[in-house]
Amino acid sequence: MLSDRRDFLVRVRCCGTRYYVPDDLIKVFGDCPVLLLHERIRKCEDCGSREFLQVSLDYPTAAERAEIRVRRLMEVKTYRRPIWRDESA
Ligand SMILES: [Zn+2]
Repeated sequence: MLSDRRDFLVRVRCCGTRYYVPDDLIKVFGDCPVLLLHERIRKCEDCGSREFLQVSLDYPTAAERAEIRVRRLMEVKTYRRPIWRDESA
């Protein structure tokens, strides 16, 4: 589960490479097995495809971490959408 991997970074590769903190992904996708992350992320933020999307765990050294830019979650917006149905008056 992601919560067991808090010391790691999640690396998502497609057009480029992005790194995420497990706690941020838990807020968005729930605490899921790392193997299911590929299903939940669904598509590349850049090209919109999932064909070449690769998701893996990375445990960078301190020196490597200093070079990595991590994509952090700012907020999760919830949209209200009305659902209508027709009834007899
Ligand atoms: Zn892409």
